[in-house]
Amino acid sequence: MVNQYEREGKPLIGITASLDKDIIKVNRENSDAILRAGGIPFIIPYMVDSILLTEITEILDGLLLTGGGDIDPTLFGEEPTPGLGSITPERDAMETALINLMLEKDKPILGICRGCQILNIAAGGNMYQDLYSQRSQLLQHNQNAPRDHASHTLQIIEGSKLHHIIGKTTFKVNSFHHQAVKDMAPHFVSTAVTQDGVIEAFESNNHSFVLGLQWHPECTAENDRTSQALFDSFVLACVTRKEDCLMKG
Ligand code: MN
Repeated sequence: MVNQYEREGKPLIGITASLDKDIIKVNRENSDAILRAGGIPFIIPYMVDSILLTEITEILDGLLLTGGGDIDPTLFGEEPTPGLGSITPERDAMETALINLMLEKDKPILGICRGCQILNIAAGGNMYQDLYSQRSQLLQHNQNAPRDHASHTLQIIEGSKLHHIIGKTTFKVNSFHHQAVKDMAPHFVSTAVTQDGVIEAFESNNHSFVLGLQWHPECTAENDRTSQALFDSFVLACVTRKEDCLMKG
């Protein structure tokens, strides 16, 4: 385990979880990746009280939005289409509130898969409810290969934050999604696409660290340094933000 930061300097990273009936659950790959990066992972319980959510975002140094089920399309002004899967309105509501509070405070956010979609929607963007019924000539985005297999290739925009982290403009990643971001929220820009034009990554021009990833780097982070580097740079951004706050008093 890398102890990258002193104990008092370790940032507290809130991790959102799925709600499966009455069970709150999240794949431990997410918290393990944060631990390796030198952060303190904290899985956020379900709650709707806006005052509590505000207080939680005061304490958190960063927010990791994890993968999960589909998102309610009425959040971005569309009626549900037949290709929409099962949704969790309570998760959508809590994550939207957390995202907006973190964005207001310019605290770092890393959104993975569903997490990048809800991040874009909360900030004013939209998404494809079901890529396969809304787009043609697509690659396979719900791979049948094992979870740690990198199945499709990204073209990464040179000079983007993602490019700085990954260090190259082509990179293969895994893919487990039938939804994807469509129009970017104001100040968010696409930074990686697959050959079929599906947006696989974006970042904010208006915030210190807001990164959305359509793939699942947590599945490969234990053995792949580039995947872990995404979590490392997120946690480093949280440390920097925390130190800025302390200096300003
Ligand atoms: Mn994909």
